[in-house]
Amino acid sequence: MPARVVVLGGGVGGTLVANLIDKELGRDARVTVVDPTGMHVYQPGFLYAALGQANGRWLARDERLLLRRDVGLVIEAASRVDHEQGFVELERGGSLPYDYLVLATGARLVPEQVPGMTEGAHEFYSLAGALRLREALRAFDGGHIVIGIAGIPYKCPPAPVEFTLMLDEHLRKRGIRERSRITLASPLNRAFTIESASKLVQPLMAERGIELATFFNVESVDAAAQVVSSLEGEKSSYDLLVLVPPHRGQSMVDDSGLGGPGGWVPTDPATLQHRSAERIFAMGDATDLPISKSGSTAHYEAPVVASRIASLVRGTAPRESYGGKVMCFLEVGGGRTTVLRFDYEHPPVPPQPSRHWHMAKWMFNRLYWATVPKGRIPEFRSRKERSAT
Ligand SMILES: Cc1cc2nc3c(=O)[nH]c(=O)nc-3n(C[C@H](O)[C@H](O)[C@H](O)COP(=O)(O)OP(=O)(O)OC[C@H]3O[C@@H](n4cnc5c(N)ncnc54)[C@H](O)[C@@H]3O)c2cc1C
Repeated sequence: MPARVVVLGGGVGGTLVANLIDKELGRDARVTVVDPTGMHVYQPGFLYAALGQANGRWLARDERLLLRRDVGLVIEAASRVDHEQGFVELERGGSLPYDYLVLATGARLVPEQVPGMTEGAHEFYSLAGALRLREALRAFDGGHIVIGIAGIPYKCPPAPVEFTLMLDEHLRKRGIRERSRITLASPLNRAFTIESASKLVQPLMAERGIELATFFNVESVDAAAQVVSSLEGEKSSYDLLVLVPPHRGQSMVDDSGLGGPGGWVPTDPATLQHRSAERIFAMGDATDLPISKSGSTAHYEAPVVASRIASLVRGTAPRESYGGKVMCFLEVGGGRTTVLRFDYEHPPVPPQPSRHWHMAKWMFNRLYWATVPKGRIPEFRSRKERSAT
């Protein structure tokens, strides 16, 4: 009988891992993806949608079309996992037994945890939010734009900085930069979590007249007065407020007794197995790993999860382990981009922003649908690295 592999979540991680397991195990496994939307969304595109550079249609595809023919798809939310008995309860009352389970359920946005945020702030962390922000920016004709972060961890740590730098360029192109003020309010003592990249972008921000407010942990928003307050006691008035909403793990993870603090899945950093349920793996944003929540994390984890499940099914010793590999582009505006490549042991040493990396990001955005979810992972190298091989 084929092994039953159930993958919860049809985002980057879930789609890719389901295809890799099916490819590797063929008839030895029956792989099923469970996702409530049946649509796969390319979240990095939200940044471009908010700034009017991409339309919503480009950012979502039918999940069925991205999965290999033999991978099953159940369009329904999982409501609970019974890890003692090995089955998943579905929202409409059915259940799915499994031999191996992958939790790839991503992160949940919880703007309601910040008083006033829903009424007073925009966000670009959901497609609907990005499209609403696009309209607000169209109507914006000058004033103070504050960009802030309402909780750590959040996915794609460079995204608020990218948005800030790209917004500066956007306002310049519209000829309204002179009558606008831009402030990035960071909860840390620098622009964002990664120190070397903060050192690279802060001078660019200063050059462009972008203000950086440090140690600003968003506490509440007064939508009527248009004031955002921090836990540290600071207040900032704004004409347009853009906040990264707080993130949590999915409630289903907690409801199943599988979550740790914040609802993140306690995950072994090397094997990607749940720390107390060995037939369960976790990947992508859902984990509690001390590494960026990013699509690239999920795509480097997927081959490890697929290979380890294949070994368990075949009764051979698992060989692959995850070393924390991540690669993220960081757009700085002006057609230039840098790249952050790191792992558990090696912090990133980002190169000076260049057109080369801008082209690489541009290509990645265009190649995404034909590559990553289907298991073809493009690798990008610098000119120096290419000539060295
Ligand atoms: C503005 C922005 C810019 C970004 N830019 C980049 C970038 O440049 N590079 C990069 O690498 N990453 C980037 N990211 C981050 C990246 O998109 C995420 O880290 C990535 O999508 C995580 O993949 P995942 O598979 O873990 O989760 P997701 O892709 O979020 O997928 C989770 C899936 O789980 C499903 N799900 C939820 N609950 C349940 C349930 N109960 N049962 C079943 N299914 C469920 C959801 O419907 C969803 O389809 C960006 C994100 C944003 C918001």
